[in-house]
Amino acid sequence: MSFFDWWYGVVGLSIPLAVLYVLTTTHITFIAITLYLHRHSAHRSLELHPALCHFFRFVVWFTTGMVTREWTAVHRKHHASTETEEDPHSPVIHGLANIIWGGSEYYRDGITEETLRRYGKGTPDDWIERNLYSRFPWVGLSILAVIDLLLFGVIGIIVWSLQMIWTPLWAAGIVNGVGHAFGYRNFETQDASKNIVPIGIMVCGEELHNNHHTYPNSARFSFKPWEFDLGWQYIRLLSFLKLAKPLHTGPVVERVRDKSHIDMDTIWAVVNDRFRVMAKYADHVVKPIVKREQLVAQGPLRRLLRGARKVLCSHQLVLRDREIDKIDKITMQSPRLKTIYDLRLELNSIWSKRTASGEELLSAFKKWCSRAEATGVDVLRNFVAELKTYTVPRMARSTSTTS
Ligand SMILES: [Zn+2]
Ligand SMILES: [Zn+2]
Repeated sequence: MSFFDWWYGVVGLSIPLAVLYVLTTTHITFIAITLYLHRHSAHRSLELHPALCHFFRFVVWFTTGMVTREWTAVHRKHHASTETEEDPHSPVIHGLANIIWGGSEYYRDGITEETLRRYGKGTPDDWIERNLYSRFPWVGLSILAVIDLLLFGVIGIIVWSLQMIWTPLWAAGIVNGVGHAFGYRNFETQDASKNIVPIGIMVCGEELHNNHHTYPNSARFSFKPWEFDLGWQYIRLLSFLKLAKPLHTGPVVERVRDKSHIDMDTIWAVVNDRFRVMAKYADHVVKPIVKREQLVAQGPLRRLLRGARKVLCSHQLVLRDREIDKIDKITMQSPRLKTIYDLRLELNSIWSKRTASGEELLSAFKKWCSRAEATGVDVLRNFVAELKTYTVPRMARSTSTTS
């Protein structure tokens, strides 16, 4: 091949084509990461056809050099120890800028023998894994570099560099960093996870990180009608083609409209759906009470109540000092909001008693409902009436009551 050919490659000097090539190949990598590594391998929320599993495993090795067992183990550890010193890549602990720009280094540092042993169970250990993927993780990347050079000539070096930067920046940097720093929260999980944007296209739905931390075993990451999870759309398509099967899509709860008593099924269903229950408490109880208080409040209290719903319903972990101060002032000046706020904390504390027996949970929940009804506040009574309609779906009843 002459120097001229090496300069332009097979495709020739075409910037639009090179950009399209980078975006397409990195997008295929994102699909492999979210569907195969994340939803299938780490969380077992999705079954994939063995042929598709092999294809995705190859894509991951060929375009990122990552090993399924290592990625799975580090990610499971992230869920098991989110925002603690043990978390391999928490921006709360290590700093946001460090995770965004150096996320892949934190990922590599997280790969230890202990982590692999504890969290790497159930990952591939076949011949190709032992003799190629795990043993020579850099070979795929080298072949990719040669292909890029053949296709695009010298700008193939830039193309390959972009491929090497693009995936770690988005997957390790943006999702793991920004996904624990900026965005909105649907659910008050015990971590700082955020949904970066409601439309998850760029990283195939991984943007919906708060939803994912709430229901890590759900194959679908979108929960609100206006949210979009591109990864879930691919799963639907693959399910249609009989190449994938989602195993879980969020909490399993049933509502019986005329049910008005609290029993063991109620408590299991409510505990199972606790994050959505707390989100409903924010919308159906705190929001209307804040609005009513705003209507009658004067001067400084009226100003103080701006944004009150958000601070009164946020998890302690994501509150800043001035917001904690705001809560203190609101609850001191508005007895009604203090009642609503205290009841929210009490309801939340019931979930922390999950190690308690079913009877203890039931008793704590009944007491909470009685206290809420005794306030005489209409929205609270309606909320309790709604909770009483919760039950475990018929098929799941026998297993839940014996667990
Ligand atoms: Zn996370
Ligand atoms: Zn996860």
